[in-house]
Amino acid sequence: MNAQPVPPPHSLLAELTHRCPLQCPYCSNPLELTKKSSELSTDAWKQVLSQAARLGVIHVHFSGGEPTARKDITELMAHARDAGLYTNLITSGVLMNEGRLDALLDAGLDHLQLSIQDLESPNADRIGGYQGGHEKKLALAREVRARGAALTINAVVHRQNVENVAAIIDLAVELDAGRLEVAHVQYYGWALKNRAALIPTREQLDKATAVVKEAIERLKGKLVIDYVVPDYYARFPKPCMGGWGRVGICVTPSGKALPCHAAETITHLTFDNVQEKSLQDIWQTSQAFQAYRGFDWMEEPCKSCERREVDWGGCRCQAFAFAGRAEATDPACSKSELHGRLHELAETESGQEPPPFEYRRIGAA
Ligand code: SF4
Ligand code: SF4
Repeated sequence: MNAQPVPPPHSLLAELTHRCPLQCPYCSNPLELTKKSSELSTDAWKQVLSQAARLGVIHVHFSGGEPTARKDITELMAHARDAGLYTNLITSGVLMNEGRLDALLDAGLDHLQLSIQDLESPNADRIGGYQGGHEKKLALAREVRARGAALTINAVVHRQNVENVAAIIDLAVELDAGRLEVAHVQYYGWALKNRAALIPTREQLDKATAVVKEAIERLKGKLVIDYVVPDYYARFPKPCMGGWGRVGICVTPSGKALPCHAAETITHLTFDNVQEKSLQDIWQTSQAFQAYRGFDWMEEPCKSCERREVDWGGCRCQAFAFAGRAEATDPACSKSELHGRLHELAETESGQEPPPFEYRRIGAA
């Protein structure tokens, strides 16, 4: 246990709902989706936002599912602004129109992060499982920039769209986005279920990486590009959540407070609910947040590794999924004994014919 008070988190990921009109086969939502009837009320979310601001949170990311599936999104946005939070809306965009966008901007929306599934409609709509979605997204992006609001395009890439990465970068420039996130799929939730259909070949990855690297240099000052590589081909893990219980807190649609959005996959952890405890109390004392905070939980090779304050030992959920123990070294690390197995899986699955997608299903109603 950490005896010292823990420095406050910077960000709150507010997963307002799991409902979404899209059905992306790589969605990071859990396989068991929360129904509308179990979602936190408007007042409960307002309390969470106020408590977050008092705790020291600076950014709130409204996410889901599709956060605009909540009819109270504008009210929550205004509440977040009044609480002094910087607001980001992570959206698929398909439930938006000009009126809703204006209302959200008036309410205090600072930044909009729009997902796209591919470069052009047929494949983008097939991947997202939503006809007409891609065109709506492009129209929304233009409306956002016409109003001078900040825009990030989020492109999740995998073996069924990664060949288009150069053109996706051009599209982000054409849409006048300030930032583009090119994120290879991370294999949690629905993505793990669809891994064999999504995992790229090594050759595809290397080609995409070269394209992105060149574009980062060429577009300096015009477009910021963030690039997330797939763990299965990485040498070292990512600093998952910037360290467990260190900089961010995630609240699920039903009010569970998690150190990372996939943390519920670690079955021995207990998660407190914001309806029963304050966010401050949860952040400082909850069992789930204490479990892998800092270094005390680490085993070798992480314990004495010079990178332990760089990647914080990587992802506990991936360690649990592969090693059966969340304390184990993330298998994405080349120092893990399971690292070779991860590579093998990637090579084998990406070399086979991709199976059909298994789509998640929970509508926006
Ligand atoms: S289905 Fe797609 S758009 Fe909807 S929440 Fe999941 S990843 Fe986002
Ligand atoms: S051994 Fe642990 S701390 Fe070191 S690089 Fe690997 S995951 Fe990171």
